[in-house]
Amino acid sequence: MTDQIKSGTALVLFSGGQDSTTCLAWALERFARVEMLGFSYGQRHGIELDCRDRLLAGIRQIRPDWAAKLGDSHTLAIPTLSEISDTALTRDVAIEMGADGLPNTFVPGRNLVFLTFAAALAYRRGIRHIIGGMCETDYSGYPDCRDETIKALQSALNLGMAKIFELHTPLMWLDKAATWRLAHALGGAGLVDLIREHSHTCYLGERGAQHDWGYGCGECPACSLRAKGWREYVAQGVRASH
Ligand code: ZN
Repeated sequence: MTDQIKSGTALVLFSGGQDSTTCLAWALERFARVEMLGFSYGQRHGIELDCRDRLLAGIRQIRPDWAAKLGDSHTLAIPTLSEISDTALTRDVAIEMGADGLPNTFVPGRNLVFLTFAAALAYRRGIRHIIGGMCETDYSGYPDCRDETIKALQSALNLGMAKIFELHTPLMWLDKAATWRLAHALGGAGLVDLIREHSHTCYLGERGAQHDWGYGCGECPACSLRAKGWREYVAQGVRASH
């Protein structure tokens, strides 16, 4: 780890989901100061944004050293994204597979827009490091989650703003079980329990039923992936060792 990273500030795309909460912990372990950015874009699971405060309160409680690093939490409203997209995340339609092999939960341009807004905010606040939970291991084939896309966007942002931003994607090569393991390595059982209880993943925004992996409908692709990852994580016995 370089001194430059240890003394630097990071901006984490923090939606209140499992992945972004793990990314937040990853950043808090590495950087001197961490700011957060969430987007309200008309998502059906807008409830995830409400989870952020409970997650932050929990993080402050379990890790006072991290609490001291937590900076501003920003929320940007970009309703345009749902106005121009016709997807199961932004419309009340069933989740299904499209003819192009992509599920209709894919919101075209979403991560490109998110990271571009993040860079614009980072520019104003003098932040170099931007962290996102994009992952191409356990994913639905979203092309904007690919490592190649993120690297190309980093180049475009640096060219277009004449700055040096570093886009970090610590989950890129991890499956969901490994993401739970990473949370455990970063913050122990306390962080794992906090994420399990208070992070939100379900595409439909359901928080009624509690499962051993957290709340959600249990049926949508996001719930299925989270449940599968949790089962594998538990089967690996990491929790039993602490
Ligand atoms: Zn669900």
